[in-house]
Amino acid sequence: MSIPVYMDNNATTPCDQRVVEAMLPYFTKHFGNAASHTHSYGWVAKGAVDFAREQIAGFIRSEPGEIIFTSGSTEAINLAIKGIFELYHQKGNHIITCGTEHKAVLDTCKALEKRGAQITYLPVNKDGSISLADLENAITPHTILVALMYANNETGYIHPVKEISKIVHERNSYFFCDATQAIGKIPVNVNEDGIDLMSFSGHKIYGPKGVGALYLRRKNPRMRVQSQMDGGGHENGFRSGTLNVPGIVGMGMAVQLCSNEMSQDSERISRLRNQLEQAMLKTGKVSVNGNVTSRLPNVANLAFHEVNGSQLITEVTKSIAVSTGSACTSALPEPSHVLRAMGLPDDLAKASLRFSLGKFTVQEEVEFASKTIEDILKSL
Ligand code: PLP
Repeated sequence: MSIPVYMDNNATTPCDQRVVEAMLPYFTKHFGNAASHTHSYGWVAKGAVDFAREQIAGFIRSEPGEIIFTSGSTEAINLAIKGIFELYHQKGNHIITCGTEHKAVLDTCKALEKRGAQITYLPVNKDGSISLADLENAITPHTILVALMYANNETGYIHPVKEISKIVHERNSYFFCDATQAIGKIPVNVNEDGIDLMSFSGHKIYGPKGVGALYLRRKNPRMRVQSQMDGGGHENGFRSGTLNVPGIVGMGMAVQLCSNEMSQDSERISRLRNQLEQAMLKTGKVSVNGNVTSRLPNVANLAFHEVNGSQLITEVTKSIAVSTGSACTSALPEPSHVLRAMGLPDDLAKASLRFSLGKFTVQEEVEFASKTIEDILKSL
């Protein structure tokens, strides 16, 4: 066990050794540019990209031609939301999202507000859920996109994606889903879930950093987005730029491993998460933030009562790598926008920690974390 114990897998995950091994030849021996059509170096690279595209498309039940490789989820989110805003402006300028989305979505929407978009930020309930009636009422004939995440990165709350897509489509709009935290943890099927565009990322699933993808539905309905990167017309013109071949190969392998191992990993991880959470609840000073019935298997977002938040965080992070979910500067500690949107008072939001376990988390680490925090709570 190495200290600090790593419990911040929603921030990023270590690369699986099998992913690293799959990637290595594409840095050296097979270094070709996937867009070089005239020689075998290029063909080998393109073959590897095509294979990864098939692995990834198969995992989310899409077609290979519906996958656009990007540098990560943030880029995929920008491409989806800005790309729809720019191409569908004749239909309208209205986009719906909610207050607990990732900053990549919220800040993209804010940027579009300056360009004339009208954004509705749906409120959330205490448990992080939205009211489906609110969603239904918010959609107008000018609503070009509903952007709601699959699962929340801070609380793990899973939105009722099928119900959301049904409402969105009945009202003739389109559904973009940020599935960065859901992919690899719970099954995602773009057809059954009714998703029109979806973002996800390699480094959250034991793959490399700097690679991600946008799923763009090509049939029923055929979606289009305005490219945000001009250049050589790669990725069917949707995202110019030389493809990150080793990264894409690594993401393909990471997805393949999820496909083979996700269900047994998730079961084990959720047992460990529950064990940690139960130990914390037993102290009598802890409550769970967010809905616990519709939640990712690896996350526990816990509020620590009657303690000073910054003292708690300083002590805990000496030996456990967890996140506060907040953007902090020492002068101005800002409570998490997600917990705030859920109505948590600022002092409790500041004394909340997100534990996100992963497939490399072991029992010993959970026991260590529980004991360490119990001791800290006694000492504070
Ligand atoms: N969306 C969610 C829900 C996330 O958790 C993250 C990463 O923290 C992102 C988007 C951004 O992903 P990336 O790091 O691949 O840009």
